[in-house]
Amino acid sequence: MANDAQTEAPVADYRALLEQERGSLARQLAELGFGGVSDTGLSYDANFADSSQVTAERGEAETLAGELRNSLAEVERALERVADGTYGTCLRCGKAISPARLEAKPAVTTCIECASLPR
Ligand SMILES: [Zn+2]
Repeated sequence: MANDAQTEAPVADYRALLEQERGSLARQLAELGFGGVSDTGLSYDANFADSSQVTAERGEAETLAGELRNSLAEVERALERVADGTYGTCLRCGKAISPARLEAKPAVTTCIECASLPR
């Protein structure tokens, strides 16, 4: 915040990682038949699990799709934070998240200390 110099962006690599992750998740969803991918984004808030008459197999796919959608939403939020310059900051304590942690899991929102705390 005190430094707005236009040097190289330190989060560029993370954005690439996140975009890669987003593509991978979207592809997995598409393979499950829950694509919803469009030029304007992903409709991961569709109420696809609304029916109680889904078959067990379909239910399993929906559970998996739900997890993928959650991951995708996290990746999208991380990309938003890259865009507004808050990426890499813990959402709970406000400290910087370690680069090693971000590289292992680019969509994380908390530092390792906060992640180990009970919610
Ligand atoms: Zn923290």
